[in-house]
Amino acid sequence: MSVFYETAFRRVLFPAYETGLRRRDTLSWLDRYERDQWLSPAQIAQLQWARLKQLLEHCYREVPYYQKQWRALGITPDDIRTMDDYARLPLLTKADIRANFEDLKATSVRDKLLYKATGGSTGEPMRFGYTRESNSRRHAVMWRGYNWAGAPLGSRSLLLWGAGVGTLPWKQKMKDRLYHAAFSRRIVNSFHMTESNMAEYADAIDEFKPQVLLGYMGPLVRLAEWMLATGRRVHRPRAFIACGEALHDFQRVLIEEAFGCPAFNTYGCREFMLVAAECDRHEGLHINSDHLVVELLKTPDAPEEGSTGEVIVTDLSNHGMPFIRYATTDLATPAEHTCSCGRGLPLLSRVDGRVIDAIRTPDGRILPGMFFPFLFKETKGVNQYQLVQRELDKLELSIVRGPAFDDESLAFIRHEIYKVLGDSVQLNCHFVDHIPLTKSGKTRLTISDLT
Ligand SMILES: [Zn+2]
Repeated sequence: MSVFYETAFRRVLFPAYETGLRRRDTLSWLDRYERDQWLSPAQIAQLQWARLKQLLEHCYREVPYYQKQWRALGITPDDIRTMDDYARLPLLTKADIRANFEDLKATSVRDKLLYKATGGSTGEPMRFGYTRESNSRRHAVMWRGYNWAGAPLGSRSLLLWGAGVGTLPWKQKMKDRLYHAAFSRRIVNSFHMTESNMAEYADAIDEFKPQVLLGYMGPLVRLAEWMLATGRRVHRPRAFIACGEALHDFQRVLIEEAFGCPAFNTYGCREFMLVAAECDRHEGLHINSDHLVVELLKTPDAPEEGSTGEVIVTDLSNHGMPFIRYATTDLATPAEHTCSCGRGLPLLSRVDGRVIDAIRTPDGRILPGMFFPFLFKETKGVNQYQLVQRELDKLELSIVRGPAFDDESLAFIRHEIYKVLGDSVQLNCHFVDHIPLTKSGKTRLTISDLT
């Protein structure tokens, strides 16, 4: 697809595609969110509270799961008068969502929902529903956050991303292609990166000349290391946006040195898209508090010492299948200060979300751990999983099966893993009742003793 076509698509076809045909009002929500970020912290808290009250009343009227739960607890939305009251409501886990999928849908919109699957950063795949309005709003919030990194809507972006699990139908492929062209984005598949084809990734950057480089930490850090080791330089982007895993300081230094541009840390997940992101002051990650309620809770998963807690999220925009106090199992630490940029959105000082090891093979391939959520969101009937690599040529995959798991699921898993890893590794599958927690109390999706 030519550059000219991409530009034409954005200027002419995108508005029709986005606001007309698809009835998405992403751009008007983006205006609203961009304005609201400059409100004072107190005003943002007020806006958040008003949206939360509205959501709670909606759940009480329309969502059987919360109706039953709150009735059993003897409470109504009128009893929830403060954030402290709210923080006493039960948490919602992935297991709750799987077990109460139909009851979590709001009755008036249950037939109009969009659906998405997540492979889960903690190895628990799950499906969930959301409304079109929520879809527009989560995209708007994402673009606001990317704008903080100097990457507004329509910036020429190269995504070093995952792609190609399963076989997409032709129509879906075309839709994806048009979507990314509309946003001037190009995707390069990071799942095929090996020690010997790094130069092809560098060439792709030189050829596309992106303003923004966006992608999973693992592959981009390896590319940066390779560039520094070989002295190869590439077209210099304006910003690097890290997704999927926490960006550590040593990785930031590596990336800034190799690509010659600042790196921006983000924190998000498929359930809500962008939860928090850095602005150009790099004083922490601004929480999207006008869009989500983010609590940091001392759950059994969180360390007792300090202010670090488990990230609990309520999505204020999704009235279709509302998540009230959803336990992400990620850990984060609040910042005590406000940001010098003047935005009223509060800060996280750090997110220690995910530890996802890459998998290596005898023939020199390196598969980012982020491949596995991609694989398992497409697989039927997997409740939980973990991949462990103790030796270079052996992988041990543990699976907790759900009712929908069958021979086809297993064949699909084997086929897709061999497709990216080749046959120099042996894959052993084990069916287990549960996946043990690590010392920190978290499950880990991939563990490699080799990295
Ligand atoms: Zn800031």
